[in-house]
Amino acid sequence: MPTSLVLERKGELSLRDIALDQTLTPTDVRIAVRTVGVCGSDVHYYTHGKIGPFVVTEPMVLGHEASGVVIEVGAQVTHLKVGDRVCMEPGIPDPTSRASKLGIYNVDPAVRFWATPPIHGCLTPEVVHPGAFTYLLPDNVSFAEGAMVEPFAIGMQAALRAGIQPGDIGMVLGAGPIGMMTALAALAGGCAKVYVADLAQPKLDIIGAYPGIETINIRNTPADEAIAGATGGWGADVVFECSGAAPAILGLPKLARPGGGIVLVGMPVDPVPFDIVGLQAKELRVDTVFRYANVYDRAISLIAAGKVDLKPLISLTMPFADSIAAFDRAAEGRETDVKIQIEMPA
Ligand SMILES: [Zn+2]
Repeated sequence: MPTSLVLERKGELSLRDIALDQTLTPTDVRIAVRTVGVCGSDVHYYTHGKIGPFVVTEPMVLGHEASGVVIEVGAQVTHLKVGDRVCMEPGIPDPTSRASKLGIYNVDPAVRFWATPPIHGCLTPEVVHPGAFTYLLPDNVSFAEGAMVEPFAIGMQAALRAGIQPGDIGMVLGAGPIGMMTALAALAGGCAKVYVADLAQPKLDIIGAYPGIETINIRNTPADEAIAGATGGWGADVVFECSGAAPAILGLPKLARPGGGIVLVGMPVDPVPFDIVGLQAKELRVDTVFRYANVYDRAISLIAAGKVDLKPLISLTMPFADSIAAFDRAAEGRETDVKIQIEMPA
């Protein structure tokens, strides 16, 4: 049995052998895992034992942001071969479901997502995964970047939902990892400039180092004043809410231009108030995102083309043997840490 990083219960991790079903069907590939990013959701299961309705009731392997090398290919998989470097989309829908047929497989009620109870994740030496959700990495995209495709895919989904037009002014509330990914996806998607607002200056310094990103420390200047000042009082064309904070959500209509768009990316823990008349008075569009669908190819293409560089967002890389320490570090939530990654032995 393989040694995996197992969340035994809330607050308790162990590196131990655990039985996993790794039967290869004709449509699957077997992958030796190489790099896994530590996600806020993994950390939340560790520290709180649940996210919304998903509760950890049995030991579960963590991790869902992964890259690796194909070591076995099912008979019906034709686009991959042994030795290919790949990254994996962690949500597996029922391909025959009504949602999948509509192309919105991310909201298929039957989706099985790595490290969402009761589905095991990928912090284990080998995984078996559908070939259809396994993507070839070009030679110039590293395993570390490959493991960044998953969080970047959320930013891509947000940028696509926003319907960005070339030259738009974007605004992102919240400079956590997903806010940063969303800002970079919005730039790649055609925004002339993206303003990122947060309270934490170290986070703003990291994302503000990218050309095309301007930062707003809302400790010094309220977000609505800052964006009004930057746009001659007009507002941002597209606003991405990535903080999940109630006051930010209530203030959204003040940030967008008349006829602009708002995309809700952040997830408030509890229901929060929303200024409906504020939205109506500007006829704002409101879109929501939940994970992503059909964006991995685009995300990989942008990274391979050099249009998006996610490497500066990898703050720390630790070996698999130290993965419990990696989770404890991630749980500290240091403002200078964006993404912590775990490397499996080659
Ligand atoms: Zn993630």
